[in-house]
Amino acid sequence: MLRTNPHYARMGKSYLFAEIAHRVEAFRKAHPGTGVISMGIGDVTQPLVPSVIRALHAAVDDMGSPDAFHGYGPEQGYAFLREAVALEYAARGVSISPDDIFISDGAKCDLGNFQELFAPDVSIAVTDPVYPVYVDSNCMAGRGGTWTEHGWSGIRYLPCTAENGFAPVPPEKAPDVIYLCSPNNPTGTALDRASLGEWVRYARSSGMLIMFDSAYECFIDDTEGDIPHSIYEIPGADEVAVEFRSFSKSAGFTGLRCAYAVVPANLKAGGKGRLHDMWARRQTTKYNGCPYIVQKAAEAACSPEGRGETAAVVNIYRNNAALMRGTLNALGLTVYGGIHAPYLWVRTPRGMDSWDFFQFLLDRAAVVGTPGSGFGPSGEGYARLTAFSSPADTREAMTRLTDALKQA
Ligand code: PLP
Repeated sequence: MLRTNPHYARMGKSYLFAEIAHRVEAFRKAHPGTGVISMGIGDVTQPLVPSVIRALHAAVDDMGSPDAFHGYGPEQGYAFLREAVALEYAARGVSISPDDIFISDGAKCDLGNFQELFAPDVSIAVTDPVYPVYVDSNCMAGRGGTWTEHGWSGIRYLPCTAENGFAPVPPEKAPDVIYLCSPNNPTGTALDRASLGEWVRYARSSGMLIMFDSAYECFIDDTEGDIPHSIYEIPGADEVAVEFRSFSKSAGFTGLRCAYAVVPANLKAGGKGRLHDMWARRQTTKYNGCPYIVQKAAEAACSPEGRGETAAVVNIYRNNAALMRGTLNALGLTVYGGIHAPYLWVRTPRGMDSWDFFQFLLDRAAVVGTPGSGFGPSGEGYARLTAFSSPADTREAMTRLTDALKQA
């Protein structure tokens, strides 16, 4: 019989979203006709912007024309898009070579795949709570050890709590690799220039690699604090950090699929340029590139017109987040995030644990959140609410929540 990867067997099913779906289904059955509002998953709701739609139509026409048809593209992405992305970095004073940009169909797959380049026994650290992809992809590769009530024995968790402002600090002993996500999913908080600078200094002195996930950088509010949009705004970061970005949240591409990883040739971890070359080798072997049509759409999102239009959409979500923060604060709840991110990290009230509060929101307000405990041990006692609903649903959810909490 075929022997399968034993590390998968240790992982079990993805419990969190299956359990949420199960509970929501039970609620719908018991309350037919009640409209459930989802503030649980991080998917966008607003349609693509006009300049992106125009680019898609034009690219479709290209594909039907003998002169402009495109077959297999370059695995690393078309130069037109890599150059457009490099210009976006340049607009923030960051010099990135288009050769260091690798276009893909998602930051999730890039983040999950990149660990293939590490030796099986490297030490991995994550912040806690955490976007599960970092942990699970390393567990699938055998770096998880065993599951305990405090998480995986083989993964180092750096607690992010209200006490440390949800900003992890470098541990005494450096891991080989740390995953940092800023603005953060799920806590909605963002690392400021000083703390990101500390991480870069620490990585430079210890040889640690930083896997920097900035999928939500478009939500950074430049009028509130000094929050870098890219880790490469910190001098010397190109020698220690890989950055992952996506058009999913910045331009509503969750269904279209386009993202990129910046893997600088200057990176020192593993030997100068080695990770850059290995990622190129990996992608050219296992990936045949993001579709031409989608890359043309992404290029349009990077144009001045596209940037203006997508910023207006991001503002819709930002306004939702502001309304949610205001409402929840007025109800006396303790709320973090929601300023530089579409996520609000809400302290569960009245001693409820994460699942109790999830059930309370569902039963009393027909609103679906995500229990904080699903993101790691330090998430217990919190709920994550997302600001990606339509403005009308967001207003309705806040009205229901206000009634529910006042009546309880
Ligand atoms: N990184 C974080 C922190 C995310 O929350 C998500 C998606 O929700 C992603 C990456 C994945 O983005 P993509 O849609 O590009 O795969």
